[in-house]
Amino acid sequence: MSKNVNGRKLATSVMAGLFALSLPFAGIAPAVADANFPSVEGNTNTSSILSYADVVSEMLKLEKNSRFNVDVFTLAEAGMAVNTSEQGRDLYVATVGTGSKHVWLQGRIHGNEPYGAEALLQVLKDVGTNGSHDYKMLRDEFTLHFIPNYNPDGSEANIRHTILWDQIANKPLMGDNGRERLVDLNRDWTPTGFVAKESLAFYEYWTTVKPDYGIDIHHQGLKKQWGTGDDVTFSLGISLAPNGPTLPSIKDGLYNDLTRQMNVHVYDSLKKYGFVNTDRYQVGNGMEIDIKGGVVSAMMLGLNYQGMNPSEHSNPVVFFETSGNTSDGSLGQKARGKSIKQNALAVKELLTGLASGAVDQVDPDRWEEIPHQPVTGYNTDYAGNIPK
Ligand SMILES: [Zn+2]
Repeated sequence: MSKNVNGRKLATSVMAGLFALSLPFAGIAPAVADANFPSVEGNTNTSSILSYADVVSEMLKLEKNSRFNVDVFTLAEAGMAVNTSEQGRDLYVATVGTGSKHVWLQGRIHGNEPYGAEALLQVLKDVGTNGSHDYKMLRDEFTLHFIPNYNPDGSEANIRHTILWDQIANKPLMGDNGRERLVDLNRDWTPTGFVAKESLAFYEYWTTVKPDYGIDIHHQGLKKQWGTGDDVTFSLGISLAPNGPTLPSIKDGLYNDLTRQMNVHVYDSLKKYGFVNTDRYQVGNGMEIDIKGGVVSAMMLGLNYQGMNPSEHSNPVVFFETSGNTSDGSLGQKARGKSIKQNALAVKELLTGLASGAVDQVDPDRWEEIPHQPVTGYNTDYAGNIPK
């Protein structure tokens, strides 16, 4: 699985530009009214959030104890040329299932958005141990690639970014402005990007897996549903806006339909769980996200960075946003169990819908039925804000 990377250069000089491109993945203004999900009390106790070591330990435990062949490995063991975080932490993947279709399941690319890790570990455990028909179907249909913690350095620091690191001096690299150089890993898969090691490591892994589908789990700030004012617990997103400037032109609109079908299926499936209130992800003021440098956007665009993806493989991906964030103190301990559970249920429902064919039956235009603010334009990382 190793590839020759001679001559590949890291374009570190574009850091200043990248930082300027950093758009918040966070949601609307924080809610002020009473909200029992999650709490707005601000008592975020990060000690209950899984550390990097906790995640690795849990993965290895599942590898050891699961009935159905959970395989845990580092990207070094998988033969990737670049294979650690900036600070030298191993990057871990777990696989389960024997199917011919590959699914990329990614959590915590933003280090201060923790529950992707917990939720993916839950799904990994379920698929690895549950003998029921549903889970057998998932193992037969898919090979699932779990990345519970894409950004271990940011996770340890409880920050969104990773910090570019001087390996020899073992301290942060400093920019011209005398500050640490931060990279948003979810803006780093671009033709002029791959500034951080994590990006190149996971990109090479993606080019070897060539997934059929992907799911990416994030957190947003607290949010109220447009029109009703109800607390939103969960938002469904597509990082290249459906019917927007970019997505309809990919594969003659295939992903424009498929991503909407995937998310509508999740929306329908989550209705039966009373504690989940789902809407559509928006960046605020009716603006839709349309970023090309996001990892999952680059997957849909079939990015061929430095010739590493010569077949221009691409795959559709959706993302989930859980309301509540560690950095702004809105995570809410009381909601922790439900926050994790809604993600795990959403992942399981989406995988089941893809395996059974139910997703294919969805009318993609029902995307409009999912609560959202009327669309006013597109918030991009390539052309600023584009009015609708
Ligand atoms: Zn995020």
